[in-house]
Amino acid sequence: MQLNEIIELDKKYYMNTFNRAPVCFERGEGMYLWDINGKKYTDLLAGIAVSSLGHSHPALVQAITEQASKLIHCSNLYYIEYQAKLAQLIVENSCADKVFFANSGAEANEGAIKLARLYFKKKGFPEKIEIITLEKSFHGRTLATIAATGQEKYQKKYSPLTPKFLSVPINDLEALEKAITQYTCAVMLEPIQGEGGVNPTTVEYIRGVRELCNRKGILLIFDEVQCGLGRTGKLFGYQHYGVEPDIFTLAKGLAGGFPIGALCAKDFVASAFEPGDHGSTFGGNPLACRAGYAVLSTILNEKLCENSERMGQYLTDQLNRVKEETGMIVEVRGKGLMIGIQLARPVAKAVNAKCLEQGFLVGNLGDSIIRLLPPLIIQKQDVDAFIPVLRNILMSDGLDA
Ligand SMILES: *Cc1c(COP(=O)(O)O)cnc(C)c1O
Repeated sequence: MQLNEIIELDKKYYMNTFNRAPVCFERGEGMYLWDINGKKYTDLLAGIAVSSLGHSHPALVQAITEQASKLIHCSNLYYIEYQAKLAQLIVENSCADKVFFANSGAEANEGAIKLARLYFKKKGFPEKIEIITLEKSFHGRTLATIAATGQEKYQKKYSPLTPKFLSVPINDLEALEKAITQYTCAVMLEPIQGEGGVNPTTVEYIRGVRELCNRKGILLIFDEVQCGLGRTGKLFGYQHYGVEPDIFTLAKGLAGGFPIGALCAKDFVASAFEPGDHGSTFGGNPLACRAGYAVLSTILNEKLCENSERMGQYLTDQLNRVKEETGMIVEVRGKGLMIGIQLARPVAKAVNAKCLEQGFLVGNLGDSIIRLLPPLIIQKQDVDAFIPVLRNILMSDGLDA
């Protein structure tokens, strides 16, 4: 099909929920994608931090193909080999003791919210149901997770929201302490906020939050759906802070594009779940877990966290040079390969469109932030190809048009 035919079909039959760029991709390999007209692109967005191994990684393709030909689904009524093995791999490489698999980030976060409330209910504190999150956070699009998301634009259309969520400013320990009451059951936050603008929390703040949660006897939940699994140069975001959460969630990069989410917790809280308390039809099925196992093993075996740290530093250094040269960048922030470029003018959409035109996929957050979330396999040559293109775009006329 031609692109215009696909667009027409989409407009006629698909719900109007996305602002799409006029491109349809046909295949990918490593850092690169090809559209249906054969044009080649370098992918610096990885499907929003999902394609962590790049495209068509042989380990992932082989795992999915092999598993699909044997068994795709069988339900959680039975034991699943790779579900147990993937849970083991996560536990052996993190602070968690137990794992539950869902199908998405929002669903993993719903599980975290349910687990936190149930933990206190079973301990005899049914009044502890309130969850404190951060302003500019993003936790998903289900009714509970938009209530957890501290951004009005996601919330106001869908009132009444799930009650007992409130949000406080990031990196403000005093505001958090003031918000905690006898009804609080957990603090939930992204160590590095993604959708809210790539906003890192400070080490003092996260250490303070951990100490505060201990002192008040409440749970600490980290949403690592975006910042987890090597994205920030360490396997998990919390490892930058020398602090362990009681619960954390994963999703985006976990199975390299196959839908999966994970709810991970310490034993003392995970044990609140007993048969019948939580569940999922698709969650953790043989195909999803086999894909997740292939991706996480590859991240560990191919030392992709180290590459994320090294290439993240190199990319950030190069972007800071563009900042000096063009005066068009106010700040480059983030960690590892989770990078936000705060522009001096509200031209992020135009910059994004021009990057696409020139064969580079980037993202924009609102009008002023360009974000980069490349596959963890990115190499120096990909950065070196992108930097002069970005510099030229930032210095070109007509961005404000
Ligand atoms: C993307 C994201 C989610 C939601 O994940 P879905 O798979 O889209 O439900 C939740 N939290 C964070 C931090 C995210 O970046």
